Amino acid sequence: MTDNRRDVVIVGASGAGLLTGYLLARQGYRVGVYEQQRRYRPPRRTLIVTSSLRRVLPVDFSPAVLHATPWMTVATRRREVTIELQEPDWILERSRLLHLLLEKAQEAGCRVYFGHRFLGLERDRQRILARFQRPRRSDITVEVGRALVGADGVFSQVAAAAGLPRAPHIPIIQAEVSLPPGWDPRRTQVWFFPQDTRYFFWLIPEGEGRGVLGLMTDHGVHPHPPMKRFLERLSLKPHRFQGARVALYHPRLRAWKRLGPVDLFLVGDAAGQVKNTTVGGTVTGFWGAQAVAQALAQGVPFAKAARGLHRELLLHWWVRKALHGFSEAGYDALLRSLTPAVRQFLERRTRDEMAPALWKLVATTPALWALAPHVLRSLVQPTPGPIFPS
Ligand SMILES: Cc1cc2nc3c(=O)[nH]c(=O)nc-3n(C[C@H](O)[C@H](O)[C@H](O)COP(=O)(O)OP(=O)(O)OC[C@H]3O[C@@H](n4cnc5c(N)ncnc54)[C@H](O)[C@@H]3O)c2cc1C
Repeated sequence: MTDNRRDVVIVGASGAGLLTGYLLARQGYRVGVYEQQRRYRPPRRTLIVTSSLRRVLPVDFSPAVLHATPWMTVATRRREVTIELQEPDWILERSRLLHLLLEKAQEAGCRVYFGHRFLGLERDRQRILARFQRPRRSDITVEVGRALVGADGVFSQVAAAAGLPRAPHIPIIQAEVSLPPGWDPRRTQVWFFPQDTRYFFWLIPEGEGRGVLGLMTDHGVHPHPPMKRFLERLSLKPHRFQGARVALYHPRLRAWKRLGPVDLFLVGDAAGQVKNTTVGGTVTGFWGAQAVAQALAQGVPFAKAARGLHRELLLHWWVRKALHGFSEAGYDALLRSLTPAVRQFLERRTRDEMAPALWKLVATTPALWALAPHVLRSLVQPTPGPIFPS
């Protein structure tokens, strides 16, 4: 028996899920967001995002901003280069951002149900029903009127129920630290030490005196030993750790499917809407939410609404593939190739808006062609992050 019906059922009160709910409730849809946590306590997480956030998040997010950093230093053991961003990156506290979005979604008329864990889909003649488990109460089913949105993160049960492949994922860890003495809090830094990780290490200031030191590793590689070595290298003591798995993009992922009378969408990490270069998924997840809202509210085909996002994600997938086999010498060459023209490009464009111009930059910048032998070495390596069958 069906307990109720919603035009749009969203699984997961994640950032991407709440923004989708907010945008659609404002358009008059009856939206239900179903979240497995009984009490909404998203863990503390420090995020660095580009100024493109303003474009995809149409709410005042200033209460979630901890800090802004206009300088980005990239370093190897032998070199470092600093890029002065025309628009600084923002440093956000994720749980504050999520509480803000929750409030906005509810104000817009979205109903948010906590303690509801999505179990799967059922078909009853032409109707699609989503089944949820509730602690110490019987399961309920909710009829999906128009669309089902899986915003349930990297281990998406919605993707599994719909038979869509699941995004690759890798471990990421951050240590909350006091900044090294003399560290300018306007400066974020990344280090390429490929013998420790094929991704990179970073130090992001959260303001005067405090910051987070982090790294990602390949699937199956434990991030704690390289983290320990890096903390020792900078003589830093961790106050607390933040860690989880984060999704990667893969061109074979699909974020849309027709299920009988309803549209099924995936957004955020569930759809692998993450830039594989930096493994940043905040802006791109919100972009995914915008594409779903546009497809439903304006009747635009989803492939068209999400075209810009997928072009950007594909570019980052290629760049990650090109970097993934770089040795120290490769990263030194990369830093040498940051000529004034390349730096100007990086200063003016955010990491979320590179696709329209990066290929042209590569084609017209001979300094970047010197990277060809390192890129070829990378391209023969397996693709980072295999996709997981549902
Ligand atoms: C330590 C760390 C640092 C990061 N740093 C950055 C950064 O600096 N910049 C950046 O852009 N990105 C960063 N990321 C990535 C970014 O946080 C993620 O891409 C983003 O949070 C993904 O959000 P989401 O909306 O897709 O889903 P999530 O935040 O994963 O939320 C999924 C939600 O769905 C709920 N859920 C799951 N299963 C079910 C179910 N069966 N039923 C009901 N509810 C369910 C969960 O409880 C959760 O609330 C970082 C990630 C980590 C782990």
